[in-house]
Amino acid sequence: MNAASDKLLILGAGLTGLSVAQLARGGTILEREARPGGMAQSFQRDRYTFDFGGHYLHFQDSEAERFFSPFLPVLENHQRESFVLIGEELLAYPIQHSFFQRFPLQTPSLPPHPPEPERSPNLAKHLQATFGPFLWELFFKPYNTKLWKCPLETLQAGGARRWIPPPPTVVPTPAEKAGYNATFGYPKIGGIGKMAANMASGVRVLYGTPAEKIDRAKKLVITKGREFPYQKLISTIPLNALLSLSDHPFPAPSPLGVSILNIGFRGTLQRPFSWIYIPHPSIPFFRVGRYPGGDEDRHGLYFEISFREEPPPATEVLLRHARSLLSLLGAQGEVETILRLNLPEAYPTPSLTLSGKLEGLFDSLKEDSIYPAGRMGSWQYLSMADCYNEAKRSLLQAEILKV
Ligand SMILES: Cc1cc2nc3c(=O)[nH]c(=O)nc-3n(C[C@H](O)[C@H](O)[C@H](O)COP(=O)(O)OP(=O)(O)OC[C@H]3O[C@@H](n4cnc5c(N)ncnc54)[C@H](O)[C@@H]3O)c2cc1C
Repeated sequence: MNAASDKLLILGAGLTGLSVAQLARGGTILEREARPGGMAQSFQRDRYTFDFGGHYLHFQDSEAERFFSPFLPVLENHQRESFVLIGEELLAYPIQHSFFQRFPLQTPSLPPHPPEPERSPNLAKHLQATFGPFLWELFFKPYNTKLWKCPLETLQAGGARRWIPPPPTVVPTPAEKAGYNATFGYPKIGGIGKMAANMASGVRVLYGTPAEKIDRAKKLVITKGREFPYQKLISTIPLNALLSLSDHPFPAPSPLGVSILNIGFRGTLQRPFSWIYIPHPSIPFFRVGRYPGGDEDRHGLYFEISFREEPPPATEVLLRHARSLLSLLGAQGEVETILRLNLPEAYPTPSLTLSGKLEGLFDSLKEDSIYPAGRMGSWQYLSMADCYNEAKRSLLQAEILKV
C-alpha cells in the first residue's frame, strides 16, 4: 500500500471498485455482497454457467486492455451472430444496415444527413431524424420504448453516438462488421465473473459490509456496528443510493432495472445466435441471448426484461413467455434448469432533467472528498472495459494518482 492510498475508502467491489484498488495499490473496499464482481459476476447451476445477461468483452482502447490483461482468464474470440426479430423473421443486427441490404427499395427513406446526437432535443427526435420514419416505427420506437420504460421524449440523445451504430454510408459496411461489438471475447470457462475474481485477489475487500450511512461532515462511512473514517471516498455504488445514504439534497435520479431469466436448455436451436433484439410489444423481453461456449446440445440462454417502479413479472410468467419465444425461434428441447437474477440498478437513465446538472453535483461531492465512479456511480452508460478509465479518472481527481 502506498501512503496516498492509506485513507482511501472504496464503496463497491464491482469492476470499477476493483480497478481503483488495483491502480492505487491500496485502499479498503466495502462490498455489500458476499463476493466481488457486481454486475459482472457469474453463477454455476448444474452444468451451466450464467451471468447477469449478456456480458461480452470488447476493448476499444489499448490502455484498458493492457490493464485488464493480467486478470483475464483464457478468452475465446467470437464473431457476433446477432439479429433483430421482425415479425417472425430474423434480420441481421444492426437492422439499419441489414434492412437496406435485404429490401433495397426502402433506401430513399433514410435521411441524408443524420444529426449529431448532442444537438438533438431528445432521444425520440434523434432516432427519427437519424433513421427515418420507417425504421423508427418498425424497430427503434418499439424497442427503445420497451427497454427504457419511459417516454423517449424525456431522454437525452447524447449517449446514442457510442451505442447505436450510425446508418450506413454511401459505401455500406456489411451488417456483420458494423458497430463496436462485431467481435468480442468471452472466458472459455467460468463465465465473465472469472475476471473480477482474479482482480479481487490481493485486494482488501470487506464482503457483506453494506454502507448504511455516510456522514459527509465527519468523513465517516457507517456500516452495521462499525465506522470507517476516510480522507478520500471513491463511491462506485449507484448514485441514487450514494445521495440517499449521505442525505444529499440533490434529487436522486431514477435507475432502470433489468431482470434476467437464465435458462439451461437442452436441445437444438434452429439457428445459432449470440443475441436477438425483440421490439414486439407482446413479448416482455427486450433481448434474448446465448452464453458463448457450452456443449453442443446444452445452451445457457438469457432472457432480459427491464423494469422501473413496477416489479418485473413472476418467474413462472417469464418462463411461459420464454418457452413461446423459443418455439417461435424454432428451438426444440427441454428446460433443464433456471436461474432468475435481478439488477434493480442496471442502466443509468439519461433523463433530460439531468442535462448539465451532474457536473455541479460531482463538484459539490468533491468538496466533501467523495468521488463517484463507475456505471451507476457516475451515471454513465459504460462497458466493463470503461471501468478502468473511470477508476483512473477518479484516482486522478482524488489526487491519489498523479498525471
Ligand atoms: C444487462 C447488462 C448487460 C451488460 N453487458 C455488457 C457487455 O456485454 N459488455 C460490457 O463491456 N459491459 C456490459 N455491461 C456493463 C458492465 O456490466 C458494467 O459497466 C460494469 O460491470 C460496471 O461495474 P461497476 O463496478 O461500475 O458497477 P457494479 O458492478 O454495479 O458495482 C457496484 C458494486 O457496489 C456494491 N454495492 C451497492 N450498494 C452498496 C452499498 N451500500 N455498500 C457497499 N457496496 C455496495 C454492489 O454490490 C456492486 O458490487 C452490461 C450491463 C448490464 C446491466
